[in-house]
Amino acid sequence: MSKILIRGAKVLGGEPQDVLIDGESIEAVGTGLSAEGATVVEAEGKILLPGLVDLHTHLREPGREDSETVLTGTKAAAVGGFTAVHAMANTFPVADTAGVVEQVWRLGKESGYCDVQPVGAVTVGLEGKKLAELGAMHDSAAGVKVFSDDGKCVDDAVIMRRALEYVKAFDGVVAQHAQEPRLTEGAQMNEGVVSSELGLGGWPAVAEESIIARDVLLAAHVGSRVHICHLSTAGSVEIVRWAKSKGWNVTAEVTPHHLLLTDELVRTYNPVYKVNPPLRTEADVMALREALADGTIDCVATDHAPHPHEDKDCEWAAAAMGMVGLETALSVVQQTMVDSGLLDWAGVADRMSFRPAAIGRLEGHGRPVSAGEPANLTLVDPAYRGAVDPSGFASRSRNTPYEGRELPGRVTHTWLRGRATVVDGNLA
Ligand SMILES: [Zn+2]
Repeated sequence: MSKILIRGAKVLGGEPQDVLIDGESIEAVGTGLSAEGATVVEAEGKILLPGLVDLHTHLREPGREDSETVLTGTKAAAVGGFTAVHAMANTFPVADTAGVVEQVWRLGKESGYCDVQPVGAVTVGLEGKKLAELGAMHDSAAGVKVFSDDGKCVDDAVIMRRALEYVKAFDGVVAQHAQEPRLTEGAQMNEGVVSSELGLGGWPAVAEESIIARDVLLAAHVGSRVHICHLSTAGSVEIVRWAKSKGWNVTAEVTPHHLLLTDELVRTYNPVYKVNPPLRTEADVMALREALADGTIDCVATDHAPHPHEDKDCEWAAAAMGMVGLETALSVVQQTMVDSGLLDWAGVADRMSFRPAAIGRLEGHGRPVSAGEPANLTLVDPAYRGAVDPSGFASRSRNTPYEGRELPGRVTHTWLRGRATVVDGNLA
């Protein structure tokens, strides 16, 4: 493999530096670097970040290849600047055995665009009744360390306790989709002023917060690690802040859409805004931004949830929940966190690479941009401005809430172990 010289990039937003890639790793970082025969990438004004890591991606394969495949999903990930994604377990069949997680893991290897770390289901069939083969999935070639019934909540406290006890043995983590099922029966959107005006079934904040409160207490009791998926309310932030102040092993993520969009958008009745957990209020959005800035929320996770046209282009009540997010995540984070002055680029590297990799105990990703490290890198042009055009997405699905919206920044290059997966904004 030949050498690549990235010239004059602001590494993590700092002073301009050159970065020399040799084969799969970074050979040198400094000023005035040169290399005979190297491919030169002029990066003046651009930000160089460690390859982004997503803790929460729905790749849909096996079973729903009409909405996404491992190949199309990893292409979308590369376009968005990601070098590793965690693939959620709610596939058909469910990723609740060593066989299925190994299948997803193998498909990821074959794709070559982005590393795929399968997430294992907590319970058999995501049914919440019987623990899945957590140990076998961990011991498999896929080496699963993150377990989640995402899409569904592990609502039985005894099952949740057993899962936390089980993963402790190998330093795994249970990622909880916090949604009390009885409190959200028939729920269509955030419970509040807008839901009463529209007459849509409300999804109360307490349905999320009560599960989070229970689970941080359970994690503390067991002495194990719990991760809370897609925090969406100010109250959830307060509970996580309290749990962390106790020194408990609790981590949390927020999606880009919960950092930007509010339930006011539901007034359009456009199902593109229907998502689980639902879009909340402006006050919730502001609390989530602040919590991501101060570290209460550890990381950004996309919850990339592709759906085919026919599952979204229907009346609100019948539409599937979820949005695609891989290809727009960094731009939304730039707008809500960087351009607003809440977080610098080093902070973005932390929340979108270092910390998610650490939570997933993922090796080879979320590493510093320095000599000897794997060349998993993302180059960003923060000055770029452009309207989101889903027709150009690498994802098989188009259900983005940002169509036509101008968002800042663009990933110009992504390197996976020294191999360019994206060049000048296009798949390599
Ligand atoms: Zn979820």
